[in-house]
Amino acid sequence: MSQDTSWQEAFRSAIKSSTELRTFLEDNSIEDSHFPVSIPTTFAKKIKDQGPESALWKQFVPTKLENDDSGSLDPIGDVKHSKGSGIIHRYKSRLLFTPTTVCPVLCRYCFRKNELSTNDPIFKKNLSALSNYLKSHPEVNEVILTGGDPLILNETKLQEISNILIKNGIKFLRFHTRTPIILPQRINNELIKYLNKISKQFIKVIFVLHTNHISEIDHEVEQALLKLKQCYIDKKVQSVLLKNVNDSTESLCQLYYKLLECDFTPYYLHHPDKVKGAMHYTLTLEEGRRIYLKLRDQLPGWAIPHYIIDHPQGFGKQNAFNPESIHFSGQLLDKNGLLQQY
Ligand SMILES: *Cc1c(COP(=O)(O)O)cnc(C)c1O
Ligand code: SF4
Repeated sequence: MSQDTSWQEAFRSAIKSSTELRTFLEDNSIEDSHFPVSIPTTFAKKIKDQGPESALWKQFVPTKLENDDSGSLDPIGDVKHSKGSGIIHRYKSRLLFTPTTVCPVLCRYCFRKNELSTNDPIFKKNLSALSNYLKSHPEVNEVILTGGDPLILNETKLQEISNILIKNGIKFLRFHTRTPIILPQRINNELIKYLNKISKQFIKVIFVLHTNHISEIDHEVEQALLKLKQCYIDKKVQSVLLKNVNDSTESLCQLYYKLLECDFTPYYLHHPDKVKGAMHYTLTLEEGRRIYLKLRDQLPGWAIPHYIIDHPQGFGKQNAFNPESIHFSGQLLDKNGLLQQY
């Protein structure tokens, strides 16, 4: 059977600058940003159809607000947990491995936007370093492939990575990906075959889709997501709460119900990180808590995500919802569970 490579062609055709975007979207008011641009034309067409007021436009079209100097280059303290070779090990039982710094699109709000590059080779990681790290850390039972976006790698590379994990006794394999939204063609037969194969090799394979707004799930994406029903994998969703994109209970409920129809269950709702170049997407914890509080009215308990915030100093995720008060006290917990100014 011939390989379906249409996703790779769509990816290579990406629009790479504000200048090209102004032409493609026929809008001369699109501004220049200091950060790189990359949008596959197939996806840019959807942005164009939905227009400048849409959640798609607001997430993917650059503005000069990104040139603002406030915010952090390392908003969740990843640097202190970085072990080199794409490994970030913050929690005992599981680690992040970023096999690529390439993404199917560059989201303007990205918390890694100061680390990603459009010029990097797609795959440059030294897998023996990962293997050695796992050998010396037998307490790790789960590896989370993130990036960049792991689904930008082809099945051969993905298989190579999973073989190393299997050899090192990893029980749980997780993917964090935005690719099915941007390049739904990526959910092809080869990927399904690969996922089915590894679902028998690991105790659990968890597929976490990153999506923020119902307008991202058109018919084509829905069909792609439903294709994954054939696989014995856990399908979850993580979203970021973003100002002027999805910052209302109604918007999140619409998104979550649509995803439930596609057999995906909400997992995390991230409070936006204070990242340099994306501060215009931030909202206060108090605003986030008001939105989150009302989700339970419309969603069953099993479909309510955890609302979490990553500690800026790298202490990791913690609940963003404060049951004592939605009024933000200005404090988070430090690594010893003591209150600390946020
Ligand atoms: C978020 C994150 C994880 C995954 O945490 P879960 O709560 O298991 O989803 C693992 N490692 C790092 C470094 C992370 O930032
Ligand atoms: S796909 Fe994820 S890592 Fe890549 S730009 Fe978007 S948010 Fe950032």
